[in-house]
Amino acid sequence: MFEKILIANRGEIALRIQRACRELGIRTVAVHSEPDRDLLHVKLADESVCIGPAPSDKSYLNIPAVIAAAEVTDAEAIHPGYGFLSENADFAERVENSGFTFIGPRAETIRQMGDKIAAKAAMKKAGVPCVPGSDGPLPDDNEALKALAREIGYPVILKAAGGGGGRGMRVVHTEAHLVNAASLTRAEADKAFGNPTLYMEKFLETPRHIEFQILCDTQGHCIHLGERDCSVQRRHQKVIEEAPAPGISAAQRAEIGASVVKACQDMGYRGAGTIEFLYDPGSQTFYFIEMNTRVQVEHPVTEMITGIDIVKAQIRIAAGLPLGIRQEDVVLSGHAIECRINAEDPERFVPSPGQITAWHPPGGPGIRVDSHIYAGYRVPPFYDSMIGKIIAFGGDREEANMRMRSALRETTIEGIQTNIPLHRRVLEEAQYATGGVHIHYLEALLAL
Ligand code: ADP
Repeated sequence: MFEKILIANRGEIALRIQRACRELGIRTVAVHSEPDRDLLHVKLADESVCIGPAPSDKSYLNIPAVIAAAEVTDAEAIHPGYGFLSENADFAERVENSGFTFIGPRAETIRQMGDKIAAKAAMKKAGVPCVPGSDGPLPDDNEALKALAREIGYPVILKAAGGGGGRGMRVVHTEAHLVNAASLTRAEADKAFGNPTLYMEKFLETPRHIEFQILCDTQGHCIHLGERDCSVQRRHQKVIEEAPAPGISAAQRAEIGASVVKACQDMGYRGAGTIEFLYDPGSQTFYFIEMNTRVQVEHPVTEMITGIDIVKAQIRIAAGLPLGIRQEDVVLSGHAIECRINAEDPERFVPSPGQITAWHPPGGPGIRVDSHIYAGYRVPPFYDSMIGKIIAFGGDREEANMRMRSALRETTIEGIQTNIPLHRRVLEEAQYATGGVHIHYLEALLAL
């Protein structure tokens, strides 16, 4: 096992990784930007290194600075968390070439899954069902493009091969808009991801977002931990997640689970990963959309229903230890719901940074809070507005829901605005309470 790990992230996930390290008896190095010196995990870390000024590209995305920090502190491994450098194949490669262990998959896997066209091809080959689409980059020729869209059938969605974070996508309803939409999306993709390549998919009108968690060790053992439903989204960003997904049968879980496990074995996957699907409730069909090669924000809901610590598993796998859990050992029990707490105006959704003057976290049976905030902490304006997550576990969905509602009522955060009022509204809404809402449900609710 490692003696010292460098945490190349900030906020709640940095603290989450630090907690896993503590449980495993591993010392931690926190790296942080100048305004982040008061982060909770920085204060709690065994060592900390300032790696640059506020802008992410000068600090958390500054590869030489992160690697230099690992060198001066003699860390053995680097955990990238989510976001920032977590899915940067060049970073993973440079970490390993500098003699450190990257806690995540091989650079080659990250590169392949980061190219969504290549990812779809690999999944299709392994027998994972995919959204019907272009099966490759879009042609430059306008007539060929139109023919392709006609064949797939409108509406279609244009997506950036190198896209992520819900950006670089455009829905096209009619042929009249296609060519213009393609050139706009191409330009945006080039600017945002440095890769103008686009592909096309059938736009599914009212699907649900359901994703499978997998864990693979370096001995070739791979298991899935069931699925999560992340359909409550705004602007393609997840807001509430839960596990298991309402209405998904054990047979469906076993079938899709087996197909994702096979795909991961075929690509020699290492570590934790998530295979994302859109699920069409009408035809009860799963369609692969992308794979994330890192820990997800919403990993706690899976931890709650499986009892498996995903972050500790990532670290153990990176250290070369076997999984030690067989597929038949994975038993799903109860239900878990996660609300992402953002420092933002709950109606206009503009960020609300500033000093937290009072903080009272919720508690009681089944409540877990993953957050780095404390009274007096100043939420900086430079980064993602998520300040933590409340997770509620119950024997069934109804109990998890009631516990979450109670937890949201108990939570006090003063000094800044948060989206807690929005969560309370959704949790009390009849359609959400029934379960199985589609990905446009929240935006439709907000438009009322
Ligand atoms: P990203 O990597 O940016 O998160 P994804 O491919 O995972 O991109 O898609 C993000 C979200 O966009 C999905 O959860 C879904 O809401 C929507 N989306 C993506 N592809 C389609 C599609 N073919 N039909 C309908 N919605 C889609």
